[in-house]
Amino acid sequence: VTDATRRPTAAVVGAGPAGLIAAEILARAGVTVVVHERMPSPGRKFLMAGRGGLNLTHSEPFERFVARYGRAAERLRPALEAFPPEALVRWCEGLGQPTFVGSSGRVFPTTMKASPLLRAWLRRLDELGVEVRLRRRWLGWTDSGALAFDDEAEGRIEARSDATVLAFGGASWPRLGSDGGWRTALERAGAPVVPFRPSNMGVVARWSDVFAERFAGEPLKSILFRFGDRAVRGEAVIARYGLEGGAIYALSAPLREAIERNGSATLVLDLKPDTPLDRLTERLSRPRAGQSTANVLRKAAGLPPAQIGLLREGAPDALVAGPGALAAAVKALPLRLTGVQGLDRAISSAGGLDLDAVGPDYALRARPGVFVAGEMLDWEAPTGGYLLQASFATGVAAARGALSRLGLKEPVATPAAAM
Ligand SMILES: Cc1cc2nc3c(=O)[nH]c(=O)nc-3n(C[C@H](O)[C@H](O)[C@H](O)COP(=O)(O)OP(=O)(O)OC[C@H]3O[C@@H](n4cnc5c(N)ncnc54)[C@H](O)[C@@H]3O)c2cc1C
Repeated sequence: VTDATRRPTAAVVGAGPAGLIAAEILARAGVTVVVHERMPSPGRKFLMAGRGGLNLTHSEPFERFVARYGRAAERLRPALEAFPPEALVRWCEGLGQPTFVGSSGRVFPTTMKASPLLRAWLRRLDELGVEVRLRRRWLGWTDSGALAFDDEAEGRIEARSDATVLAFGGASWPRLGSDGGWRTALERAGAPVVPFRPSNMGVVARWSDVFAERFAGEPLKSILFRFGDRAVRGEAVIARYGLEGGAIYALSAPLREAIERNGSATLVLDLKPDTPLDRLTERLSRPRAGQSTANVLRKAAGLPPAQIGLLREGAPDALVAGPGALAAAVKALPLRLTGVQGLDRAISSAGGLDLDAVGPDYALRARPGVFVAGEMLDWEAPTGGYLLQASFATGVAAARGALSRLGLKEPVATPAAAM
């Protein structure tokens, strides 16, 4: 409860998208906000996300969108309904960054980058009076309940506020700032944390040296990737260690779980998804006139060298068998995967603060007045804009939770309320 003569205060920890959107909503409602960030500049992972084209969100129908969050879908639904993809697009455009829908339904800012958006956003936050304190790492709570920080310039400091929003991010790419180092402090406070695991990461295949040497970096286009009862059509890239890229990321959660359980998993590739098996068999059966199998595969099946190499890796026997077996291998090429890439290079992480430790208003049950948001929560989703959308939506939900605890309402006539 705040006294009526002063503005209520909020501390936001973590200057990623979840923390910054929470700061914006709180500041618009009249709260004095300080954002604490351990790195020398805000939004480092957000900027990194912009490197390969900032995929802000996705334009598919809402029900399909929500389902992308798998086990966490129903828990995240209210936050996503309250701040859906259209709201994120409006917010982005409100910062002078027009967006477009790409061929796959993914939504990007026209510039494709995060930097102009982040610049405009930080300017707006500054105008709203939000203070951003950098190089300040959160350590936990003091015995009296204050936030304790290690500040590079001031040493150990404490901060008190009427409400707190924690938005530490996940645990992938730790050198960008989010390293999961907050786990012990939260567990000590009575909030369980599910161990972090890589998500949207590459998978390890034991390539021959010759194949790795020749084809690392080669894209694999228009292939159907099957694992268990899931099938994804899309692109992957051959890496020295195995495979990476969108189609692999889309299957990364079940692949990771199977590899954890069994030590390996078999991914099945259809290299010619638009050609039925019988037609392919017929094409491969035409007289070869002394041509090598590789040449036949290239000419009759239209397979590029990298995919012929892949066949040699996954089904060496098929290359010396008859056309029927060869066609069958092209349509269902088994690749044995023996591991996954680590958190260091994964795009996101699974695990994090147990959703049962969090109320529907994104309040931390163990610590009244503390709200949590973003990738630090235990949900995962494929690439396609789902990661940023849920980070933003939970940031909005946490800020609204904090406002309601402070007895404040969001102003109606502002762009934030229209979001
Ligand atoms: C290479 C790459 C590409 C990506 N591309 C996309 C994409 O195109 N689309 C998409 O939707 N998502 C993408 N993502 C994922 C997306 O960037 C993240 O999901 C999102 O940034 C998470 O937001 P957040 O605010 O929860 O956490 P973060 O952005 O990680 O921010 C958390 C902040 O908290 C700070 N922090 C952590 N611990 C402390 C502490 N103890 N004290 C103080 N501060 C602390 C961190 O330094 C960090 O600045 C990509 C990620 C990577 C790595």
